[in-house]
Order: sequence, then C-alpha cells, then structure tokens
Amino acid sequence: MVWRGVRDSTPVGSSLGHYCGVFGVYAPNQPVAHLAYLGLFALQHRGQESAGIAVSDGATITVVKDMGLVTQVFDERNLASLHGHIAIGHNRYSTTGSSSWRNAQPVYRSVGEAGFALGHNGNLTNTEALAAELGMLPGLEPVHESVDSTTDSALVAELVARAWPEERSDGKELELALEKVLPKLQGGFSFVLMDDSHLIGARDPHGFWPLVLGRLDGGGWVFASESAALDLVGAHYVRDVQPGEMIVIDATGVRREVRWAEPEPRLCLFEFVYFSRPDTRLYGHTVHTARQRMGEALAKQAPVDADMVVPVPESGIPAAQGFARASGIPYGDGLVKNRYVGRTFIQPSQKMRGAGVRMKLNPLPENIAGKRLVVVDDSIVRGTTTRQVITMLREAGAAEVHFRVSSPPYRWPCFYGMDTGRRSELLAADLSVGEIREYLGVDSLAYLEIDRLTAATGAAAESFCTACLTGEYPVPVPLDDAKLLLEAPAPGAEPSSTPADAR
Ligand code: AMP
Repeated sequence: MVWRGVRDSTPVGSSLGHYCGVFGVYAPNQPVAHLAYLGLFALQHRGQESAGIAVSDGATITVVKDMGLVTQVFDERNLASLHGHIAIGHNRYSTTGSSSWRNAQPVYRSVGEAGFALGHNGNLTNTEALAAELGMLPGLEPVHESVDSTTDSALVAELVARAWPEERSDGKELELALEKVLPKLQGGFSFVLMDDSHLIGARDPHGFWPLVLGRLDGGGWVFASESAALDLVGAHYVRDVQPGEMIVIDATGVRREVRWAEPEPRLCLFEFVYFSRPDTRLYGHTVHTARQRMGEALAKQAPVDADMVVPVPESGIPAAQGFARASGIPYGDGLVKNRYVGRTFIQPSQKMRGAGVRMKLNPLPENIAGKRLVVVDDSIVRGTTTRQVITMLREAGAAEVHFRVSSPPYRWPCFYGMDTGRRSELLAADLSVGEIREYLGVDSLAYLEIDRLTAATGAAAESFCTACLTGEYPVPVPLDDAKLLLEAPAPGAEPSSTPADAR
C-alpha cells in the first residue's frame, strides 16, 4: 500500500491495502538467500507484483528486489551474490495504480553506521498521524532520502530510525527502537525485520495477518506468513507469533519474546476463505479441511436439485468437494484452469481483469452440456470473474446454473491490508442477493451464512475480523480513507463495470 504522504501521482483511492507474503530466516552456515527464495516461492500466491530479499553477512546488508514473480526476480547469479546468515524476503501484492519498483520491499534504511531492513504485510490506518508526528506534511516530503519509497512501510522505517537509541546498546538498537514504535502503529501489520545480526518478527495486537515461527531441521529459525512455507525450506512449525508480540532471534536462538500489547485476536476471516494456501494451518486448523466443511455447510443451508457439482478452480475446489459430499450430487470438472496464469484479481485494471478470466478458465462442453450444475466458488468480490464464468458455462450448454458461494456477500472495503478497491466496486455493496442473482444470470444463488462459515473454520467466531462481510471494523478507520472507499468513486477514477452495470 502507498503511504498517503505521497509525492507521486498515485490515483485517489489506491492508497489502501495489500496483503503480501513475508519470510525471514536466521541460519548460520546455511544458504539463507536460497532458503528465503524457497520461502517466497511457497508464498507466491500472496503477492505477484514484486519480490525482494535482504541478506546480512554480519557487517553489510544487501538487498535485491524487482518487479515480477520470485522466479523472474531471482536467478542463480543474483542469489549467489547474497551471502550471509540472516535474510528477510517479501512478495508484494499489486495495488491498483501503485505498481512501481520503489515500492518493492524489503525497505532498507541506514541509521548512522548501522542499517536495517523491513518487510511488511498489511496496512496501517494512522499514517496521517504518524507522518504528522515526524513533522512531515503529507504530499510534500519524501519519507527519507535513503528510503526511495512512499509506502507506509517506509514510514515505519523512518519512525524506527528516529527512535534509534543514541547510546550504543549491545547491538540491541533495533529491538529497542521497535519497542517504542510498535505501540504507535494502528491497523494491520505482520513484520519481518533484520539488522546485521538480528532477525525480528512482530504482529499487530489484532493479528489481522498470519505470521508463524518455525525451526529449521538443520539448525536455525524462520518466520513465514503461512505455515505451508515451512515445509519447503525443511522447517517445522513451532508456534504463531502472537498478536501484539515481537520475537527477537540472534546467535543465541530465540532471545526475547516481547508482549508489547494486549492481544485481541482478529485474524482476517478471508485467510480461511481464499487467501491462504489450502495446506496452511491457521489457529491450528488446516485450511483445506475448513474449506471442505464450508462446502458441506453450504449444501445443508442451500440444497438444490442438480446433476453435477462444479468448482470454480482452484480456490472453489475444496468447498465444491464438501458440497458434493454432503449433497450426494456427483462432483465433476466443468472448467479447466491454465496453470500458468495468476489470480485474475491481480490484473491492474478492470478491463484487463475481464480479459484475464478467459486467459485463466475454459469450459469442458462434453461434461457440462445438458446438465443442471451447482457451481461453487469461495467468494464473489467484484463479480467480474463470476459473471464471465457463468456465461461460459451457459454457452457450453449447461441446462441450469445454480451458484453457491462459500462465504457471505462481500460488502465492505478492507482498511487493514486487503486490496478490494472502493465500496462501489463491490458487487454486493448495495444489491440484494436477488438482484445479484439477476445480474449474474443464474437460476439460483446462495451465500454461506457467517455463523456457518466461522463454525466451519473450527476456531472461535470472535477471533476473526469480519469487517468486509459485516461492516464491523475492529480498528477505527481513518476518516479520509473511509470517505474515499465507502462513498462514490472519485472523479477520474477508473470506472467500475460491475455494480454500475447491475443497476
Ligand atoms: P469476481 O467475480 O471478479 O469477484 O471474482 C471472484 C473470484 O475472485 C473468486 O474466485 C475468488 O476466489 C477470487 N477472490 C476473492 N477475493 C480475492 C482477492 N482479494 N484477491 C484476488 N482474488 C480474490
């Protein structure tokens, strides 16, 4: 996300939100850059705009970052140049209008002779106040000459640099500065940070975004956004970084576990619905199993007479399996996904998103023709994908299309780190389920009720942020951002093709 004190021509309303993948590793005598590369590769689904790794050899921190996928940014040559025993890595999710190299992470900041690097998953909600505290006028000043970035992550780097202790503190300057800065931040953040000899992970008091601690089988420690990333690097899960906690790792191992704020867990419920890999565990429950239970619950809540249950691949697959199991209707493939296409949502403009659906999915007419289909997907956000999928299925000869969604209507923008644009772009913002059914052109439509959804996760209902579904925001939303995202599109903003069409 772009910090609002920007000097570039970031379009209004694009300042909010990204979810990203972060990874950190402390492992003397191991190829930490390669491990970070593998960790980021496992977290590629969390961000496909840019990738970066920072490595410390104990004296110097080197950062390599660029636009593109992990495999596009890194090769044997640049990985080989990253020597050291500590690394952090970051995958950045695209935010409309703000794709630029200088917003790639990790952010590096020098402080006198020292320096540190930071990777951030999430979005802060009090950047204006933080900027004011630094004496900066939003829109006029760069964050710092050494940080060529406008993100709120760069703002945090600046706050940390200014809180750096003047006295030498046995190399503990970074954690001491963080202890002063973290309590000032509001919103969503899972951070990985490093200086030349420490690796630090920290999570906001609500724990909006996941972050786990793992132990490398060959010795050493890792942080990762998702537990699934531990498998690929040969690490085992130790525990979650707790909401409101900071963990400091150095040559002695896990040296400090600091509870800097009372935890009030509100993990993003959408991690269970869509974001996380199915093989990730959240709150101790495997996401894949939870998604199957969502499908089962959906079949019980909204049964339908049909011939075949068809998933919208890939995120709809486990819920469709659960729906088929609970309803007794055979499961079958009706859509084939091109494996080399990323998530269509990530395309930077609405027009390209439209084209993206065709690039990604193609129907199987032999399986579909003449059949009454129950089509299952995890969510409808803007409705662009869904509408085209339904048209494709009808053109391929489906006799009936009954759409089932394994989450409630997505009605409210996220201010803590999910990029879903302004409220007017959300299909369900002002439409009833009946109106959406008409717009999509389906024979029937049902969304999973929120209580059934949270029950399917296996975790306590009150441990989730459900703001995008209920409008209940656990952290106050900044007024300017609220105005931008909750009200009508700004003049000159990219036109939205969904709800407007629907009316
Ligand atoms: P649409 O019909 O355009 O709203 O797209 C619905 C599809 O987008 C579903 O298959 C979801 O799995 C997927 N989706 C849901 N939330 C997101 C998100 N935040 N980023 C990318 N894709 C998403």
